[in-house]
Amino acid sequence: MSSTWHILGAGSLGSLWACRLARAGKAVRLILRDPRRLQAYQRTGGLTLVEQGQASHYAIPAETADAVGPVHRVLIACKAYDAAPAIARLAPRLADDAELILLQNGLGSQDEVAEQAPGVRCIFASSTEGAFREDDWQVQFAGHGTNWLGDPINPAMPEWFDDLAEAGIAAQWSVDILARLWRKLALNCAINPLTVLYDCRNGGLLEHSCEVTILCTELAELLRCCGQPEAAVDLAEEVRRVIQATGNNYSSMYQDVRAGRRTEIHYLLGHACRTAARHGLALPHVERLHRRLVDSLQARGLPRD
Ligand code: NAP
Repeated sequence: MSSTWHILGAGSLGSLWACRLARAGKAVRLILRDPRRLQAYQRTGGLTLVEQGQASHYAIPAETADAVGPVHRVLIACKAYDAAPAIARLAPRLADDAELILLQNGLGSQDEVAEQAPGVRCIFASSTEGAFREDDWQVQFAGHGTNWLGDPINPAMPEWFDDLAEAGIAAQWSVDILARLWRKLALNCAINPLTVLYDCRNGGLLEHSCEVTILCTELAELLRCCGQPEAAVDLAEEVRRVIQATGNNYSSMYQDVRAGRRTEIHYLLGHACRTAARHGLALPHVERLHRRLVDSLQARGLPRD
């Protein structure tokens, strides 16, 4: 199998992974959105990674999805709503033994991707690393963390896993990646929408602790109902700890809304509500939160999903 890492999407996380893999001497190729973005990238000549104030430059080759040649391993590093359309375009180039690594936050986009690439191994990731784009083709490594990777269908660790440690990318293989993704989704649902609605930092939710606790009770019920009881354990306590520990931060959803960007609501709170409905489970507070958030996005002229 080819050892090349194709990275689809040179945004914050995609650039962070691409630069570290390239620095470790791994073969890396970027797949960019369209010829216009490819030209813009080629004019700049590479990606810049800024870590602790130190910038380093990597002249990583790039192409679009329509280029020629098979791809064997692709890190999908776009937003959840872009993942399935991106894979639909890339599908004709996916080799029989191709593997996709999906970095998207939330749940639902993984199934959409799998539908576009039947039979292809999909490895799900949940990242606690933080990165943001200072400008096009420039990424700032803002927060160290871990990347949990796993395959809900096949527990075998892929043979390239050691590439990550060699590239200094903190990673752990998880045999229960769905539990991790569900837990993160629940934390996100309990915190992020309220920070948008109350226009506050995470710490501002300490003034709304009753509302947060009721949401956690319903979200824990959802987790138990959809076969993730471990992800439900002490959810409210962890939410409280996260709110305290990140009190000064603005949530990712808050930042998206503030910057006028589309949110990933469809794959977070939206996914929670759709799953509850499928199970015939009534979650009145979670559903009301979803409606309030959709109304708020609409009032700001942002997509409702
Ligand atoms: P981002 O900075 O917006 O980057 C997304 C990139 O995907 C953009 O560069 C975009 O291209 C590209 N893209 C979209 N459609 C494409 C296509 N069809 N072909 C090629 N490229 C395409 O997003 P991000 O912050 O890295 O987030 C990616 C995912 O990771 C999200 O689900 C997010 O929730 C999750 N995540 C992010 C962080 C973080 O700290 N950033 C942490 C944990 C999880 P353009 O540049 O042309 O728009």
